[in-house]
Amino acid sequence: PARLGILGGGQLGCMFTVAAKTMGYRVTVLDPDPAAPAARFADTHLCAPYNDPVALAELGASCAAVTTEFENVNADAMRELARHTRVCPSGDAVAVAQNRIEEKAWINRAGLPTAPYLVVDTLADINVDLSAWLPGILKTARLGYDGKGQVRVATAQEARAAWADLGGQPCVLEKRVDLALEISAIVTRTSAAQTAVFPLAENRHANGILDVSIVPARVEATLAAAAQDMARRLADALDYVGVLAVEFFVLEDGSLVINEMAPRPHNSGHFTLDACLTDQFQQQVRAMCGLLPGRTDLLSPAVMVNLLGDVWRDDGGEPRWDVLMEAPNAHLHLYGKAQARPGRKMGHFTVLASSVDDALEQAMALKETL
Ligand code: ATP
Ligand code: MG
Ligand code: MG
Repeated sequence: PARLGILGGGQLGCMFTVAAKTMGYRVTVLDPDPAAPAARFADTHLCAPYNDPVALAELGASCAAVTTEFENVNADAMRELARHTRVCPSGDAVAVAQNRIEEKAWINRAGLPTAPYLVVDTLADINVDLSAWLPGILKTARLGYDGKGQVRVATAQEARAAWADLGGQPCVLEKRVDLALEISAIVTRTSAAQTAVFPLAENRHANGILDVSIVPARVEATLAAAAQDMARRLADALDYVGVLAVEFFVLEDGSLVINEMAPRPHNSGHFTLDACLTDQFQQQVRAMCGLLPGRTDLLSPAVMVNLLGDVWRDDGGEPRWDVLMEAPNAHLHLYGKAQARPGRKMGHFTVLASSVDDALEQAMALKETL
């Protein structure tokens, strides 16, 4: 059987590995952590730094295609790998998603809307009339996730102070928009430009981290179709190959803007593991192998709940998994991480029910009992 490779062996790499193994492929994982979740399932674990030239050469030489599980992978390492094997997504696409300035420029160039924003590269950029972007959020161009690297600012003075506090690094000042809700679309695109988009997830966050995804999102059918179409158009514009997650804001006035993208399967797509005809990790395998995307039909309304380290007891004791195990319509996924820490993604569970409202009610009740 062919061998597939992945940079990164965290929970996303782990779920990718399980999907690829189940589909009959061999898998090599490159991750410096000897206890990386994906190492339990991979055929080969290259336990080395992500930029290790020897490990990258082995990955490139032994794998029919290579992907990544995290967006801050070294884009040059991806480009280097592409000289030896198929790399999905490309280093160029990953580089765009790694930099909010590039990302927003690409979104707008594709004719798609974002919230109003100002690029702040230098002091001169922020010493202008900022009223068009206030109140706003100053976001670092690079390396922000789970709301880190962001400062909410109300006045020009606050914006300038925040930019200095962030070390004067490249940022965007984004106008704060009135959110009705947040949704995400996960699109799969092949090198032959075939695409498939999963049903939209409606996402709730807690402390800047995804908390709950509700599927299908409770939005009008026309708005859902528009979001799916935008995700496709963005993937086309990037000539993207693989699974791409696109986050949207639905504004109070009913309009839709793109917030950001992630060049990989996404936490808000974990519902697909239990609720769709094909899951997002199988789609990644299919795109890597030049197969048609699988069908994305939703088999049942679903609610996914993230399990952060916070639900562990103070003495490190395990939550009441028995309650989840005994719920006939809930599926528990634990990532096999040894240490629970507040804010650390340890697992998730998905509840399937005949209506979204039922699934949400039952999911919230189950979370309470943990
Ligand atoms: P992720 O972990 O999804 O990569 P991130 O750190 O890249 O998150 P964003 O998605 O940019 O951060 O923002 C985090 C959250 O902050 C959003 O999901 C949204 O709730 C809120 N937010 C961000 N930008 C705006 C905005 N312009 N107006 C209103 N709320 C916003
Ligand atoms: Mg982000
Ligand atoms: Mg986000």
